[in-house]
Amino acid sequence: MKIIRKIKGLRQEIKKIKSAGKSIGFVPTMGALHQGHVSLIRRARRECNKVVVSIFVNPTQFSPKEDYKRYPRNLKKDAQICRKDGVDIIFCPQTAEMYPQGFKSYVSVSGLSDCLCGKSRPGHFKGVATVVAKLFNLTAPDKAYFGQKDAQQAAVIRSMVADLNIPVEIRVLPTAREKDGLALSSRNAYLSEGQRSDALVLSQALKLARVLIKSDSRDASVIMRQMRRLIQNKKSARVDYIALVNPQDLKPLKIISGPCLVALAVYIGKTRLIDNTLIEPN
Ligand code: AMP
Repeated sequence: MKIIRKIKGLRQEIKKIKSAGKSIGFVPTMGALHQGHVSLIRRARRECNKVVVSIFVNPTQFSPKEDYKRYPRNLKKDAQICRKDGVDIIFCPQTAEMYPQGFKSYVSVSGLSDCLCGKSRPGHFKGVATVVAKLFNLTAPDKAYFGQKDAQQAAVIRSMVADLNIPVEIRVLPTAREKDGLALSSRNAYLSEGQRSDALVLSQALKLARVLIKSDSRDASVIMRQMRRLIQNKKSARVDYIALVNPQDLKPLKIISGPCLVALAVYIGKTRLIDNTLIEPN
């Protein structure tokens, strides 16, 4: 496995792979790898000749008050995980090379970026779309792997790829969870023991939504109210948003009559966690 820090070095390796006629599977990450990331890496390993993982804590997707500085970074441990799962290249660029002085071009996906997480994280998806576009240009992948855990991000990337004719197939894989239902996230590392237990309320609220919809509850506001009530029972929890939306365009649903993405963001103490589930009514 090669660990590449420079754009020039990456381009050389990608050129070699391409001229040997091999396919590239790409998994963009911010590191602090867990089994969710591993599920993407393993799928890429199965479907492509070469697997490239990027590890880059992208400053443009954090607002000034967010956790950019304290976001967990552990390249040594990440490299062990990647090596074990057959990754060929880790690309971990320097911020100064990704965003040199004078950088002024951004990708923004209108319509999908300002709702849900975009409301409390203005500019976040512009940062995400920009860095993913750059990484696609550098890596030239045949397939790129994303998690359903970040459903809005996946929708933004799909839309960007379609709109800008980027020649890559986007694969979105299910959310990996702990046995008790907590969605794996690098940010779970911030949680105290008590908060870790309160954080279960995210997946419990999603389960409640599923039970309600499967038992023919159709009014989104009633479902959201019950979810909110459940979450508010936890001392350390504060709802950022709860939403029932169309999975394609992320527009709010009033009445559930087709596929529905139930998404939420909840602060557990100071840690903002997200989760979602896709539900088909009966
Ligand atoms: P991140 O390192 O948080 O930027 O995530 C990198 C990729 O891993 C994104 O496509 C995420 O959606 C995906 N991912 C994060 N958590 C999970 C999870 N629990 N299950 C599956 N994929 C995940």
